[in-house]
Amino acid sequence: MTSNSTITIGVLALQGAFAEHIKLLQHAATELLCNSNDRAAVPSPGFEFIEVRNPGHLHQCHALIIPGGESTSISLIASRTGLLEPLRDFVKVQRRPVWGTCAGLILLAEEANRSKDTGQDLIGGLDVRVQRNYFGRQVESFEAELELPFLGGEGGTGAFHSVFIRAPVVEKILPSTSTVQEPEGSVDGTVTAPPRKGTSAEVKILGRLPGRARALKDRTTTAAELGEDGDIVAVKQGNVFGTAFHPELTGDARIHAWWLGEVLKAAANAETK
Ligand code: GLN
Repeated sequence: MTSNSTITIGVLALQGAFAEHIKLLQHAATELLCNSNDRAAVPSPGFEFIEVRNPGHLHQCHALIIPGGESTSISLIASRTGLLEPLRDFVKVQRRPVWGTCAGLILLAEEANRSKDTGQDLIGGLDVRVQRNYFGRQVESFEAELELPFLGGEGGTGAFHSVFIRAPVVEKILPSTSTVQEPEGSVDGTVTAPPRKGTSAEVKILGRLPGRARALKDRTTTAAELGEDGDIVAVKQGNVFGTAFHPELTGDARIHAWWLGEVLKAAANAETK
């Protein structure tokens, strides 16, 4: 990639909140451009944002967002439209930058609980096990202030107002797929993504929601009182990033801007290899 080339970012547009992501990406790209002009640093490349509905669209993309929605529907439609294998190839073989929000995080997990009965296929790419609908049903949706240290650069606080809607949680970090053999089949409704090229990148925990699980039940207990670290709601492994919440529903483009920066870094790395 050269400094003035265009980077195409796709948003999977089979179901769910894809339009909201495109809107915030446009916003974030403008911010990024302004900031880099301020610093008179490297000229920013142009970004192009497209909706991805078939393998031809995906083929044009340097990076991809898988939005929130209903992970079962997204995987069924992806399978019917011949996108499931190209998506696995994009994430796990080409290892291009991908970000999944909520249902997108579920699809990027190597394992998901409560999925077998719905016949859900996963894409995989993140060595984690997620639990779907961990925080309860639609009526138990909530908003919370999260502390996201990766947003805290240049004097920022890292506080981010987050929306959780039938959100999953990352309940376990798994051993890297580079050391895992064929999946052994599912237990207790857990499904497993097919194995692909392994990665040596470790899973980094980028965000935790303090005490929410317990607090949801009694509504007064705090994480500190429980001595808890909190539930894992944001992770990154190599180029694969996942959040259990929905930054695209807040109007706050900081995570989108940060992620576009990560995409630029990945593109620069790929170029020097
Ligand atoms: N609970 C949904 C699922 O299992 C995800 C919800 C969301 O993306 N807001 O797919």
